[in-house]
Amino acid sequence: MRLAGERHRLPQNTLYAHLKPATTARCERVEDVQECLEFAARQRIPVAARSGGHSYAGYSTPDNGLVVDLAGLSYVRVDGQKAIIGGGARMYDIYEALGAAGRALPAGTCRSVGIGGLALGGGISVISRKYGLTCDHLTEARIVTPDGVLRTTSAHEEPDLFWALKGGGGGNFGIVTEFTFSTDPAPDLVVFGLDHPAGTAADVTDAWQEWMADAPDELWSSLRVDSGPKSVPSVKGTYAGTAKDLHRLLDRMPPAAREVEEMTYLQAMRHYAGPEDSGEPYVASSRMLHAHVPGSKIAELMDGQPPAMIQFDSFGGAIERVAPDATAFPHRDATASAQIFVNLGDLTEDRARALLAGVRDGLGAGTTGYVNYIDPEMPDWPTAYYGRNLARLREVANRYDPDRVLAFPQGL
Ligand SMILES: Cc1cc2nc3c(=O)[nH]c(=O)nc-3n(C[C@H](O)[C@H](O)[C@H](O)COP(=O)(O)OP(=O)(O)OC[C@H]3O[C@@H](n4cnc5c(N)ncnc54)[C@H](O)[C@@H]3O)c2cc1C
Repeated sequence: MRLAGERHRLPQNTLYAHLKPATTARCERVEDVQECLEFAARQRIPVAARSGGHSYAGYSTPDNGLVVDLAGLSYVRVDGQKAIIGGGARMYDIYEALGAAGRALPAGTCRSVGIGGLALGGGISVISRKYGLTCDHLTEARIVTPDGVLRTTSAHEEPDLFWALKGGGGGNFGIVTEFTFSTDPAPDLVVFGLDHPAGTAADVTDAWQEWMADAPDELWSSLRVDSGPKSVPSVKGTYAGTAKDLHRLLDRMPPAAREVEEMTYLQAMRHYAGPEDSGEPYVASSRMLHAHVPGSKIAELMDGQPPAMIQFDSFGGAIERVAPDATAFPHRDATASAQIFVNLGDLTEDRARALLAGVRDGLGAGTTGYVNYIDPEMPDWPTAYYGRNLARLREVANRYDPDRVLAFPQGL
C-alpha cells in the first residue's frame, strides 16, 4: 500500500475538486483495504472507497478523510463463463478483456466508470433489456466489512449482505475487493442513432415512449433531449439482431437522419465508451418513470433553458423480469430512467441546481431516483433510491456497520 498525501486523483465531477482528503491509500492487496478500514474505525475518520471516481456527488472523495483507492485492484480475469473483476477495474479494462474472450456483461457506457460504484448501485447497460442489469449477473463478491473482516458473499454465504450488494449503492456495508459475474456469449449488435430536428421534442418523446412500450427485448434505446431555444431530441441504441429487422423497427419512429452500423460486441462497447472525460463541473439528478410523461411537458421543461439535457434509458425486458425485492435494486417495473444533467458553464451552482430541480420535479415521477445518479439534494433520498427495499437495507447496514464507520451524507 502506498499513501499519496495530498496528491490524489480528482473526482470525475470537478465541481468537487475542492474536496481535500487527508490521505489516499493506493491499495494493491486485500490486506491493504483491511488495514484502511481498521485504521478509519479506530481513528473515527471519514473513509470511502474509490473505484472509478465517477460519483456524481464526489462521495468517493471524503473531505479530511481517507480515500481507499482501488486502482491497484483492477484486474479482469475471464474464466469460462465467469468474469472475476477487481474492485477498482474500469469499463475499458472490462470490455477489452471480455471482448477478447468472446463474452459479454451488461455494464456502463463511459470508459472510465468503475465497476465498484456501477455494480453496487445496479448498473444500466445498452443491452440491459436483453441481459438485465450488471448486478443481476453478480454471483459472488468478496468484501471487507468495517470490522476489517474479509467475507465472501453469494446466494449461499451471507445472503442478506449479498442481496444488499445488488443495488444497495456504493459506499454502504463495506468495500468490495472482488466481484464475480456470470457472462453470456458476446452478441453482435447493430448500433444506431436518430437525429431529429429541433422543435420536435414533444412528438418524438411521445412516439419514443409508445415505441419502446412494445419493443422486443433485443432493442434497447435511449432518448436524449437537449435544451435550446427549441429543444433537440435524438435517439440512440442497440439491436441484437439484423440491420434489416432494425430498419423495420425504426420506421415506426418519426422521420430523422438515421445512422445504422453493424458491430461486434467489443466494437459497440468501444463506441459507447466515448472519449476521455472532459473534466467539466456539472450537477445531475434522476427520476424513474412508471407512466407516460406527456411529450409537451418535456418540451416545456427544456425549451429556452441554458445548456441542460434529459436522457431517458429504456427499461423493461430482462430488467423487469426480476422481482422488485429479489435484489436491492427496486425499480424493476420502471419503463425508463430519466437522467438530468446541467453543465455549470456560466451558471452559478445555485442557478444550475434550481434548473435541475425544476426539471427533475417537473417530470412528475414521484419520489424515485437511481442511486448511481446520486443527487446530494434529492428530496427524501432514501425512499427515492430504495423504495420498499429501504427497511431491509437499513437492517443489513446496521448489522455490518453498527458504528457507522462508512457514514457519508447519503449513506444507509
Ligand atoms: C460519464 C458517466 C457515465 C455513466 N454511465 C453509466 C451507465 O452507463 N450506467 C449506469 O448504471 N451508470 C452510469 N453512470 C453512473 C455511475 O454508475 C455512478 O456514477 C457510479 O457510482 C460510478 O462508480 P465509480 O466506481 O466510477 O465511482 P466512485 O466515485 O469511485 O464510487 C461511487 C460510490 O461507490 C463507492 N464505491 C466505489 N467502489 C466501491 C467498492 N469497491 N466497494 C464499496 N463501495 C465502493 C464509493 O465510495 C462511492 O460512494 C455514469 C456516470 C458517469 C459520470
